[in-house]
Amino acid sequence: MPSEPQPAPYLPDPRIETIAEWIGDPVAPAAFPRHQLRWHNRRWAAAVGLDGFDETRWVQHFGQFAPLPGNLPQPLALRYHGHQFRTYNPDLGDGRGFLFAQMRDAGGRLLDLGTKGSGQTPWSRDGDGRLTLKGAVREILATEMLEALGVDTSKTFSVVETGEELWRGDEPSPTRSAVLVRLSHGHIRIGSFQRLYALEEKAHLEALVAYCLETYPGSPPPPGAPGREEPAVILLHQVVERLADLAASWMVAGFVHGVLNTDNMNISGESFDYGPWRWLPRWDPRFTAAYFDHSGLYAFGRQPEALLWNCAQLAQALSMLVETAPLVAALDRFGPLYQQAMGRRFTARLGVESRGPEQDAALIQAAERAMVETGLAPEQFFFLHRAARNAGEDDFGTLLRLHAPTVAADDAFWRQDAPPGVLIDEVERIWAAIDQHDDWSELHAKVEAIRDLGRHLG
Ligand code: AMP
Ligand code: MG
Repeated sequence: MPSEPQPAPYLPDPRIETIAEWIGDPVAPAAFPRHQLRWHNRRWAAAVGLDGFDETRWVQHFGQFAPLPGNLPQPLALRYHGHQFRTYNPDLGDGRGFLFAQMRDAGGRLLDLGTKGSGQTPWSRDGDGRLTLKGAVREILATEMLEALGVDTSKTFSVVETGEELWRGDEPSPTRSAVLVRLSHGHIRIGSFQRLYALEEKAHLEALVAYCLETYPGSPPPPGAPGREEPAVILLHQVVERLADLAASWMVAGFVHGVLNTDNMNISGESFDYGPWRWLPRWDPRFTAAYFDHSGLYAFGRQPEALLWNCAQLAQALSMLVETAPLVAALDRFGPLYQQAMGRRFTARLGVESRGPEQDAALIQAAERAMVETGLAPEQFFFLHRAARNAGEDDFGTLLRLHAPTVAADDAFWRQDAPPGVLIDEVERIWAAIDQHDDWSELHAKVEAIRDLGRHLG
């Protein structure tokens, strides 16, 4: 997704119809007792030409899911399988969401509107197909913060409260319900490929590769890469490039996604599907977000490894189409690409110049040590040291001064005591105001502060 939304006319283009017959199932949205608009992403609505709706019309489309003009006549619940905590599960699929519409942005890129909490589908199993309002509020905060920190993420487009009482094991219940619409570059997952591989649907697998190459354009594999003319090989290279960068972007953001299952891995490389996420309260590779992640499989420091493992599952599925050697060669690029992205993103976050792989790696190591020693939250640490402000006499300070600042960090924003953050206490405080007093002002104030942070980070 482009970093800053550019205004565009509405340009419907439901490309998914070319593969709809086997990628998903037409479904009906739930009939909710109430529709109250709670969140409306004006910036991104303008990027897809949907900013002209009044509230009534917005709710008709993003609460009741009246089809958008020239778009899908009926929502499509997507089929997929996936590895959940390394165990293969063929009983997945969009169990509480669907693909609602697709359109082009000003740059000609295809964007999807997908839902969460829009009702039951053939893939719901015992689930109610619903999303809690708290889950929706958490997704707003995660997506806004990640966007501000330069992570390629889905955007929270709309949240409508839907007036039902939900029962959940991980929230005081009954709890309020909502339907969320997310805007992203795509909704095809690694698990979408795994399903076709498991069912031996070779022709569909080929068609899905072609669909992804067409709808998520990327660069060709590097010169000399074996099999670089093969569509499946090209796709794997692109996904490896995107997920190596995504892993680095989470690490530099101090973000723990929490559930890095292959059904939550978008082929477009966008971060999405936010459940038990956390921001790090302090630098700790073992920090785990999901209370049900008992082994720490998806701990902060294991995220790059998890994404590489997921790329290998995509390679396994693609092995039905091509030989394995070129696929392994693509996977081998993950480590170096991840290191490069870390250097680039870490120095950018500090507002200093990259000095090449070795110097950047030394700086990152010294920064990690300094964060552990000071116990500062990464947000606070990066804020204090932006553009080499407050560089002390320790190893980190010395190394940091060797990297020339690339930005000025002298306006009032950088003189605040602390940057805006979304550590768990803040999230709970914002939710408590909504839950107890229906007071949405804290959420809006936080989002404003986060967007201001994003503007200052540039
Ligand atoms: P997640 O952990 O959100 O990625 O979800 C994993 C799988 O469970 C997906 O197939 C979801 O569609 C499904 N799922 C999660 N919550 C619900 C729910 N409340 N109702 C139906 N399906 C659900
Ligand atoms: Mg999911």
